[in-house]
Amino acid sequence: MNLCDFAPEYIRAIQPYQPGKPISELAREMGLDERNIVKLASNENPLGTSPLALDAMIHALHDIARYPDGSGFELKQALSKLYAVDTGQIILGNGSNDVLDLAARVFLKPGATAIYSQHAFAVYPLVTQTIGAYGIAVPARDYGHDLAAMLDAITPETRMVFIASPNNPTGTLSSADDLLRFMERVSRDVLVVLDQAYNEYLPAANQADSIRWLKQFPNLVITRTFSKVYGLAGVRVGFGLAHPEVANLMNRVRQPFNVSSIGLVGALAALQDSEFVQRSYALNRAGMLQLTDGFRKLGVEYIPSYGNFISFRVEGDAANTPKVYQNLLRQGVIVRPLGIYEMPHHLRVTIGLEPENQKFLKSLEYALGELA
Ligand SMILES: *Cc1c(COP(=O)(O)O)cnc(C)c1O
Repeated sequence: MNLCDFAPEYIRAIQPYQPGKPISELAREMGLDERNIVKLASNENPLGTSPLALDAMIHALHDIARYPDGSGFELKQALSKLYAVDTGQIILGNGSNDVLDLAARVFLKPGATAIYSQHAFAVYPLVTQTIGAYGIAVPARDYGHDLAAMLDAITPETRMVFIASPNNPTGTLSSADDLLRFMERVSRDVLVVLDQAYNEYLPAANQADSIRWLKQFPNLVITRTFSKVYGLAGVRVGFGLAHPEVANLMNRVRQPFNVSSIGLVGALAALQDSEFVQRSYALNRAGMLQLTDGFRKLGVEYIPSYGNFISFRVEGDAANTPKVYQNLLRQGVIVRPLGIYEMPHHLRVTIGLEPENQKFLKSLEYALGELA
């Protein structure tokens, strides 16, 4: 079709994002009962949603004929109190992916470059390419960000650096010291997006004091999400924290009603439910031990992770990994292949409930046995 030839080359070159396979799709394809399928493919909260948030959202359904509060007043008030920032420093997004996109739209243009790490979150190249800017993937070190090399990769054209800590899909963490050193050295003319989607899964000792750094570094944007520990992935709410002038620009380009009324209400209630967050954190710690124990018993190599997921390696040639992936699907276990992350030997599994983890480990043992 001719029309599509007029779309910019950089748009046509974009690889579609591959989400985790939905449960309903696998049930259809394999003739499985949905109740026997375990989806551990999208880093969702296995406990579901905070009951407080769920109640608030069900209640808010009565009002969905009305547009949401486009300013997100109440949610911003709550975030402002919780994080000791001004409401003018907050950017609400339709998921934190939206905030990443807003940052790219404000600071990138064709010819500019954005820097991110090899094996980093797939949305960074996506939002960069959408603008027609160049993305530079800096080789990873032990699967983690090589912050020194990322600093060296900066040129006069560089306008943004994306840092994920913990990173998805590798689960690697950049230490607070390393991040701070990076911020001290990077030019103030380069926006640094620090994506902390998994921050709440970190033990307190590993959490960086990043929000305090905003005072010192006007070129820092921190992104957080309600999709992970708060269990609200389906309603799409995330936020960014930044210098007021940066936040102001980002708020100008966003869609006026980019967060739904249900999302606003759910997020506000979820912030109040610290019991649910603590329970999610504890479940994740226990599940991490269960899975890493299981991997060790199976002799499966994994990348130590700080998130709610873990990436593990399938031995043998690269063709073995899709075989194991398919075999797990046939057993009703959905994990995530990492070919698009330049990790063709790895699969990523999200930490689930205890019986889900157990089903995964048993299924993996069976799949590896089939292969041997
Ligand atoms: C899951 C995830 C997000 C969150 O995306 P939302 O749009 O908020 O659902 C952001 N960054 C990383 C690295 C993630 O893994």
